[in-house]
Amino acid sequence: MAREQQHAVVVGGGVIGICCAYFLSKHGARVTVLERDEVGKGASYGSAGVIAPGHAPINKPGRVKQALKSVFDPLSPLYVAPRWDPALAQWLLTFSRNCTAGHLDRSMRALSSVGHATTSLFQELVSEEELDCDFRREGYFEVYLTDRGLHAARGEATVMRQHGFRPEVLDGAALREREAALNDSVLGGIFYPEAATLNPYRFVLEMAERTRRQGAELLTGAEVVEILEDRGRLRGVRTLDGDAIAADTLVLATGAYGGALARQLGYRLPLQAAKGYHRDRDPREGETPALRHTCMLGENSVFCTPMNGFVRFAGTLEFSGINHDIRRPRLEQLTRVAARYLDGVGEAVSRSEWCGLRPCLPDGLPALGPVPGHPSVFVATGHAMLGLTLGPMTGKLIAEYIIDGAPSLDLAAFRADRFR
Ligand SMILES: Cc1cc2nc3c(=O)[nH]c(=O)nc-3n(C[C@H](O)[C@H](O)[C@H](O)COP(=O)(O)OP(=O)(O)OC[C@H]3O[C@@H](n4cnc5c(N)ncnc54)[C@H](O)[C@@H]3O)c2cc1C
Repeated sequence: MAREQQHAVVVGGGVIGICCAYFLSKHGARVTVLERDEVGKGASYGSAGVIAPGHAPINKPGRVKQALKSVFDPLSPLYVAPRWDPALAQWLLTFSRNCTAGHLDRSMRALSSVGHATTSLFQELVSEEELDCDFRREGYFEVYLTDRGLHAARGEATVMRQHGFRPEVLDGAALREREAALNDSVLGGIFYPEAATLNPYRFVLEMAERTRRQGAELLTGAEVVEILEDRGRLRGVRTLDGDAIAADTLVLATGAYGGALARQLGYRLPLQAAKGYHRDRDPREGETPALRHTCMLGENSVFCTPMNGFVRFAGTLEFSGINHDIRRPRLEQLTRVAARYLDGVGEAVSRSEWCGLRPCLPDGLPALGPVPGHPSVFVATGHAMLGLTLGPMTGKLIAEYIIDGAPSLDLAAFRADRFR
């Protein structure tokens, strides 16, 4: 079908859906985005804002042993809320089977081929589209208090080097010279020069605006409840209000919430939601560190990101199902642990406290491509901790897949039918 005749409907207005819509409309397709809430208010709203190319998925050798020690501790960074849920049990089993060196190597190959193009694509978008999103291409520091943590981080840096990235190992003094807010307890860490930071909500809003300018229609308050097919051929979708919207191609970019729609096609994507939290603090002496660079507090997996006018503390992976309940002790833990690594963290009122649900597949990789047996329906979800990082590349590759018939990078590792 000619590009200008294609009507692509994108379900979901998070970073993934908006990036898909942007590149589809750039390639000449007629695009409608259907978002049940507001654009960018899902997981994409409050992320740590770090573009971290080349980083491994959550599945790593040793992860299961590490997780088993703390997984039911409600204050540990990785937490599984005890409950009877066969789908979660199956997910955890598949997850643990994928915590091997072989899987890590395959994942790193797949992610690094996308990752090498990521930061420059962000740079291109920010420059060409004049996106106002506080984009800073200045890397970030991962910092550690213990020999054990540092040792593991060095191992990860070695793996990244094998895949063409240039992480730099630094001792505590060198780190403090580059980031004065780090306190004397910090033993050392890694600098990731290819990384960048931005304000994630501003990025999505700005991209949505540019997508509109290219002629796409963005409808909010439009929840898709049904996929319409006629003898196996896609016709469109129906919204909760009863509107039928015709489509030649459908992209399901529904984040952690997409399981039910996909199941209408007999397709089961084993998604689990991993809740993360953030606390934003205004810069005030004695309450918020005067942080100049993004730091990840290694042992606790908490990101501290200076954004325009405030510092965001973000992290935790909580498997407690699809809900937005804030467990206060976990939220408070974000700033409590920060005080161990940074000078100047005190008690303070936060300007924002939030939680969001990362869409996670049990092998730690996203699913990108057509739904088995439904060549006009694509999925683009499961980005877990890397949804912002992989957002623009996902949009570009999905658009190439749909419009040109083949993406410019090999997406075999991300096939949507790999869990059958
Ligand atoms: C605390 C935290 C920190 C993070 N930090 C980083 C980071 O530093 N770097 C990074 O790369 N990633 C980070 N992430 C991960 C990243 O935020 C996610 O992977 C990413 O936002 C997922 O984007 P998405 O578009 O798939 O999902 P979402 O942003 O959740 O968007 C999905 C959208 O689909 C809509 N939707 C769902 N169902 C329907 C329907 N039936 N009809 C219409 N609309 C529907 C929802 O309303 C939602 O708006 C972080 C996540 C968290 C929680």
